Amino acid sequence: MTGPILSHGQPARVALVTLGCAKNLVDSEIMAGLMAKGNFTTTSDPRDADVALVNTCAFIGPSQKESIDRILEMAALKREGKLRGIVVAGCLAQRYQSDLLNEIPEVDAVVGTGQVDAIVRVVNRVLRSPSSRILEVGPPGTAVDLAAHRAVSTPRHVAYLRIADGCDFRCTFCIIPTLRGDLRSRPLESVVEEARRLADGGTRELLLIAQDSTSYGADLYGEARLPQLLRALARIPGIEWVRVHYTHPKTWSEALIQVFEEESKVCKYVDIPLQHVTDPMLRRMRREVRRVDMERLIETLRSRIPGVAIRTHFIVGFPGETEEDFAELLQYVREAQLDHVGCFAYSREDGTPAGRMKEQLPERVKLSRRQALMAAQKKVAASVWGRWVGRTVSVRIDGPVPGRPGVGVGRVEQQGYEVDGVTYVRAADGASAPATGERVSARIVRARHYDLDGEVAA
Ligand code: SF4
Repeated sequence: MTGPILSHGQPARVALVTLGCAKNLVDSEIMAGLMAKGNFTTTSDPRDADVALVNTCAFIGPSQKESIDRILEMAALKREGKLRGIVVAGCLAQRYQSDLLNEIPEVDAVVGTGQVDAIVRVVNRVLRSPSSRILEVGPPGTAVDLAAHRAVSTPRHVAYLRIADGCDFRCTFCIIPTLRGDLRSRPLESVVEEARRLADGGTRELLLIAQDSTSYGADLYGEARLPQLLRALARIPGIEWVRVHYTHPKTWSEALIQVFEEESKVCKYVDIPLQHVTDPMLRRMRREVRRVDMERLIETLRSRIPGVAIRTHFIVGFPGETEEDFAELLQYVREAQLDHVGCFAYSREDGTPAGRMKEQLPERVKLSRRQALMAAQKKVAASVWGRWVGRTVSVRIDGPVPGRPGVGVGRVEQQGYEVDGVTYVRAADGASAPATGERVSARIVRARHYDLDGEVAA
């Protein structure tokens, strides 16, 4: 079924609003690809559209609020007659389902995380029978192998590669398994084939994403197969960097460490959310690891993969977190010298075991702990990244810097795309900025906490 030609004489135009994580972005890219095949045109400006498709996030309170605010923005445009229809997809749609139709009358359709492939049919129904209120929600979790339809939205040289969806862990603070289902890995051949297509299209850096990448394949093959997948991806001509996001400390293996050691295309970069470090907190979070296990793993990664950057996330203010727990975490951050640290103030989520725990902490305590932890990390970052000054390194350029002629912005291998600090590279006097997508050799002349400044090396 193709999109209707509307009164403006053009195929229907859909504005795609994407919120949340990179996995949601891939869902949006798939929906954009399906739309294009369905003879719809997609636009990023809702004012210039017939239907708004809001692909939402519901991970924690603040992201739910952001999603609802965007939906209400679209609702206002619809009341002004600027939009004919509103479709809500993604995790908020999966979580609240018909409540969204009941609470926001301007919403015409709600599409679950497992119904991405129904998007063309749903938008057609919204346009052909405007009064029909559509609830297209089923069991959580995307049909994981729709990648062939993707309209990749990132710059040509870098692309996300979703290897699995859902998660088999049951961390007590996390709503994701409820919204995305259990772990479902894509067949290795399908991932490699998609990576080949991306490489043929100019992709040089693959960003592997899942809820829990290190468990990749456990559901499909009875054992984790990330090592095998990484070796296969490293063999693809044109691919220069393979970056793994969202690993779990419990599911690292000797085989995986060997791949990071041996495969030069696998970035010396380990994204491993630790969430906390005291054993009482790790138990209450049901992280299935102890402090000693995580410390031993990080020590091994640092000794076996020289120059590896460690990226992690912590949650502070979790129910029952004592002053002593927090002091131990703060001390750990000061001592561990981690390269990239993010920190969430615990967000109480209905439907999670932690949300039912008694020992909830006041918001001001959570926020002050988050502030203290990020202040401590800022000092650490100054010394960690300060050590790069004077080195000549390879920088992948992501683009020019508006208003700074001759300067490009990019990343060293130890900096993730759109989630970490960046490296600015100034071309030799008078020359134009290094080309987007290129890797240039640069001498680092300054570090500013999380960002580096460099000059193109002769
Ligand atoms: S590993 Fe834990 S935090 Fe991560 S998606 Fe799974 S349940 Fe959520």
